[in-house]
Amino acid sequence: MTYQFECSEGDCEFLLRSSSDEEIDRLVRAHVRMVHGGRIDSADLERETERIERR
Ligand SMILES: [Zn+2]
Repeated sequence: MTYQFECSEGDCEFLLRSSSDEEIDRLVRAHVRMVHGGRIDSADLERETERIERR
């Protein structure tokens, strides 16, 4: 399973892919904090993270 997160803040083009949802969680929170000076709640993070099945 691959997880993909696309930041939807303004015109931010941050895109993150990882096979670990814990890593996504950690890196996305760090990104939002450092780049946007804010925080993302778990529901938004969950909604904006796509799960990509590898075949
Ligand atoms: Zn962003």
